Amino acid sequence: MPAYTFFCEACNKKYEVVCSIKDYHDKLPCEFCESNVSVHRMYTEDAATLSSSVKKSDSELKTVGDLAKRNTDRMSNDEKQYLKTKHNEYKENKPDAPLPKGMSRMTRQKTKTKWV
Ligand SMILES: [Zn+2]
Repeated sequence: MPAYTFFCEACNKKYEVVCSIKDYHDKLPCEFCESNVSVHRMYTEDAATLSSSVKKSDSELKTVGDLAKRNTDRMSNDEKQYLKTKHNEYKENKPDAPLPKGMSRMTRQKTKTKWV
C-alpha cells in the first residue's frame, strides 16, 4: 500500500499514513493532536520515493542499484555530504606528490586527436 506524508502545523510533526488509494482523502486528522485544520500533504516527500513506489525490504533487493538506494536512504544528510565531499576531494586537490626519479607527469594535450 502506498504511504502518504503529512505535516501538521498545529503540533509541528511529520508523519506517514499508509492506506489504500480508495481510503485516502486530503483531510485526514493529525495522528498526534487529531486536528485537521492545519494538516498538509507533503507532496515533495512522497515524490522522492515515487520511482520505487513502495520501499523495498532487504530480501527484495535485487540489484546493486537497489542496495545503493537502500543505503542512501538510511544515511543522514551529514553523512551524504561527507561522502560527496570525500568523493570529489581529488578534483580540488590535484595530486602534487613528488615523483620517483626519472618520471614525469603527463599533461593532457589541448588539441583533440584526429583519427585519420
Ligand atoms: Zn498535529
